[in-house]
Amino acid sequence: MIDVLIIGGGIAGLETACSLQDLGYETVIVEKEKTIGGHLNDWDTLFPTHRSAAEVLEHYTEETRKRALTIYLNTYVISIKKQNDGIFEVQTSRDVVFHCKSVVLASGYQLFNAERKEEYGYKIYDNVLTSADLEKRLKNLQGEFTTPTGVTPKRIAFIHCVGSRDEKSGNHYCSKLCCVTAVKQAIHMKQLCPQADVFCCYMDLRMYGPGFEEMYREAQEKYHVQFIRGRLSEVAENANGSLQLKVEDTLAARPSRLQVDMLVLMVGMETAKSTELFAQSCGLECASNRFVKTKDHHIGSNQTNVDGIFTAGASIGPLSVFDTVNHAKSAAFAVNDYLKAMK
Ligand SMILES: Cc1cc2nc3c(=O)[nH]c(=O)nc-3n(C[C@H](O)[C@H](O)[C@H](O)COP(=O)(O)OP(=O)(O)OC[C@H]3O[C@@H](n4cnc5c(N)ncnc54)[C@H](O)[C@@H]3O)c2cc1C
Ligand code: SF4
Repeated sequence: MIDVLIIGGGIAGLETACSLQDLGYETVIVEKEKTIGGHLNDWDTLFPTHRSAAEVLEHYTEETRKRALTIYLNTYVISIKKQNDGIFEVQTSRDVVFHCKSVVLASGYQLFNAERKEEYGYKIYDNVLTSADLEKRLKNLQGEFTTPTGVTPKRIAFIHCVGSRDEKSGNHYCSKLCCVTAVKQAIHMKQLCPQADVFCCYMDLRMYGPGFEEMYREAQEKYHVQFIRGRLSEVAENANGSLQLKVEDTLAARPSRLQVDMLVLMVGMETAKSTELFAQSCGLECASNRFVKTKDHHIGSNQTNVDGIFTAGASIGPLSVFDTVNHAKSAAFAVNDYLKAMK
């Protein structure tokens, strides 16, 4: 029997596992993909410092190697059952069944599917990308940056709140990180294409974290990114592949039109579908935003309604890397308290 089973090998799972191993517990990570690292594998640089995401991943690869952590890759957790003796039985996609004293949910998030906002033209027009697509494009960039149709962009627009703060999408909450991600990406585009005009169309700007407000100022003062308070209502494609945007300017209270070569949709973060599935199997409560509900907002953000099941990272809602790492460290301490009390 193992002490702790961690579901998800993103940075939350990796940080929790390293901390628990250091506290002397036998810990196993189960990851559904063929590699560890979660979403960070797809990101180029990280706000607020612009350091490479690969550097953070290398750190965790090295830390897991040093501790010889047991990681099951390509293995998907399907269900969790708490037995009468308090031991958990965890069923996986590869017919491996684990028995453990406690479970940490580090299953993270999934991205909002931008095809659901048909009027924005994602997967209909070639030069409409999501923020995640742009990260991957930047990460794999060799040579000059061009749009998907091979044009050096002269005008680029970022649209905030795609699939967040939107009753129609069923997501009334704010994804918290897409404002600062837009600022990060807008700066990056100005660095790669200094001649381009870059616009951010926002509802509100939420720069809640350390260094975020400074990045926003830098975007305006040093890079001349233009911030428009407005909502996109419609996108149409021109014959040459450029895009016509209809934007409601909510400050000037009038509709305006923008012509751009590339449109980037800042997609929100949703709870991972798999989390919803295994949550049902063990009676785990989810909050109204469908992320895992924590036991106490202020003093129990790693605990759930099921004793012995803990959370780490973005399984509780949108979190930055900084917040995720801190939440994962505190998860290890919460598990430690629980296992000590069990003895
Ligand atoms: C476009 C975009 C850009 C971003 N840029 C930045 C940035 O610049 N700086 C920053 O601080 N943050 C950034 N973030 C946020 C960052 O991605 C998160 O902080 C981070 O990914 C959270 O890590 P996590 O381990 O909690 O979740 P994830 O990265 O989602 O990892 C969860 C892991 O769990 C696995 N998993 C899920 N379900 C199961 C299951 N049933 N069984 C087994 N495994 C499972 C998944 O495969 C995944 O590997 C960005 C987010 C977005 C959307
Ligand atoms: S962080 Fe910004 S872009 Fe993201 S949902 Fe909140 S207000 Fe909208």
